[in-house]
Amino acid sequence: MLKKNDIVDTEIVDLSHEGQGIAKVAGFVFFVDNALPGEKIRMRVLKVKKAIGFGKVEEYLSRSPFRNEDLNADYLRTGIADLGHLVYSEQLKTKRRQVINTLYKIAAISDVQVAETLGMSNPYAYRNKAQVPVRRVNGQLETGFFRKHSHDLLPISDYYIQNKEIDRLINFTRDLLRRFDLKPYDEKEETGLIRNLVVRRGHYSGEMMLIFVTRRPKIFRIEQITEKIVAEFPAVKSIIQNINDKKTNAVFGSDFKTLYGKDTIEDTMLGNRYAISAPSFYQVNTEMAEILYQTAIDFAEAKKNDIVIDAYSGIGTIGLLFAGKVKGVYGVEVVEEAVADAKRNAALNSITNAHYVADSAEQAMATWEKEGIKPNILLVDPPRKGLTENFIKASSAMQPDKLVYISCNPATMARDIKLYGELGYKLQKVQPVDLFPMTHHVETVGLLVRNIKDDKRGG
Ligand code: SAH
Repeated sequence: MLKKNDIVDTEIVDLSHEGQGIAKVAGFVFFVDNALPGEKIRMRVLKVKKAIGFGKVEEYLSRSPFRNEDLNADYLRTGIADLGHLVYSEQLKTKRRQVINTLYKIAAISDVQVAETLGMSNPYAYRNKAQVPVRRVNGQLETGFFRKHSHDLLPISDYYIQNKEIDRLINFTRDLLRRFDLKPYDEKEETGLIRNLVVRRGHYSGEMMLIFVTRRPKIFRIEQITEKIVAEFPAVKSIIQNINDKKTNAVFGSDFKTLYGKDTIEDTMLGNRYAISAPSFYQVNTEMAEILYQTAIDFAEAKKNDIVIDAYSGIGTIGLLFAGKVKGVYGVEVVEEAVADAKRNAALNSITNAHYVADSAEQAMATWEKEGIKPNILLVDPPRKGLTENFIKASSAMQPDKLVYISCNPATMARDIKLYGELGYKLQKVQPVDLFPMTHHVETVGLLVRNIKDDKRGG
């Protein structure tokens, strides 16, 4: 029986979805950080549970030819780049394999083409958004990243996968906060002021938004701070304060206040203009999100008379790209600010046939069905937890011919596709797109088509 601190020699046989190496020892499945398939390691046992355990590499007895030896290990320790130790071409293969395996395991689908993962030619510094905690470390205000599974801040200045101008703005702001002697948040004591810095940057426009997340409303000498930031970074068009006085892991509280400039920044995607406000979702990798949306457009093959539902529409990114090709678009999104953005974005692009409602997707489907809206194409782009059974039933009752499923979690996507399968929709093709290079995250587009034959049999 293995116990803590035992040392065993073993081989890594697989990679977990979170990027950990998997070893099988004495009937246990061990998860090991920074260990790649094929590597032989001397492993220290950290913890054993019923059937699984956690281990740590004491020594590499052999190293994978696919190991990226240049990676700064801090990026693995924090999870900034939890797959960064694997060379990029292998990351893309791993992600495709994960989609294939998940579809098979969860939905018993093995007869569908899963295309090669579309990746980036330069898979670094791609993020257009940063969300950085501010804490005191060794007596000094620091910005950085938490070590995995902890709230221990590891100070960082080069965030590796973030746009370099964003890094520079964060470091500059950190230095100002030190100079003006503002207090970093202390989670244990529930004291201090500055909890997080959040930065967003338009990939094409270069416009930046800086958000101070604070525990209390008052920021001492904020006028001087914003003045200095804007003088150094003319691209900062919006400085916002968010107040979060709760003991929570959620970054934002509900109150947003514009301290300087506009409430939104603007960017373009596939030629459309988009205004983005602080609480709204916006894909963090613009270059690859354009490829993702283009894939959705290609899969849908929309026609002039089509009616499109864009469920989980955010600021309208995808739906507004369809608007010019079809008769009408109906979008639903639960965050009210995002819906306001979507409406404004329709106007920005002179689109008059897109309609947005602030509601839950489930509720909106029921309402639209009552109103007699008959979609030919349904686009869904839910968060990680995927769709609900109610949504799936309500949407298939509307009998769209095609369903384009954009997913950031293959497991919930497979679960939902299985249920759609029982309701007469067949998965036709799948395209993984790498929106999150160097991390374990996978984005996938799937096309489902209504099976007319089954439908008739069912009456
Ligand atoms: N399609 C958009 C947004 C995708 S992210 C884009 O590509 O930019 C998923 C969105 O779903 C988020 O904006 C989130 O606020 C929204 N959301 C989460 N749960 C929801 C629900 N139950 N009903 C409607 N929208 C929801």
